[in-house]
Amino acid sequence: MAESYSFSCDCGAVEFTVKGAPKVRGFCHCADCRNFLKVPYHSVDVWEKDQLTVGKGADRLVEFQHPHKKMKRFFCSECGDTLFNSNSADWRVVSQLLVRRNNGGELPDTLAPQNHFHYGERIVDIDDDLPKRA
Ligand SMILES: [Zn+2]
Ligand SMILES: [Zn+2]
Repeated sequence: MAESYSFSCDCGAVEFTVKGAPKVRGFCHCADCRNFLKVPYHSVDVWEKDQLTVGKGADRLVEFQHPHKKMKRFFCSECGDTLFNSNSADWRVVSQLLVRRNNGGELPDTLAPQNHFHYGERIVDIDDDLPKRA
């Protein structure tokens, strides 16, 4: 059976499902994530655009386009919760915090982080055993 994960925003108005293994799972330390999302680094599971289906509330899913970068943030118009964002490759980037919240507070092993990315751009040093890539 193929992997499949379902998520919803805080208020439940918007639901989406991703199918298949994520392309990337890890921590992104790039300046773009930091500036766009106001996080010190972004813990993410990333799927391709066509792996993600909005099952409910597509009319409440608002797309915010970054003023000059190829990045978007997708959030619920009812509760303001961010469901995912997209990167320059138009992949769908889901926060592992949202994954946890939709999975009883746990991160499934299949979605656990494997790497640190853009570690050279970091503002926070991480003392763990995961590979750290520039
Ligand atoms: Zn909502
Ligand atoms: Zn990033």
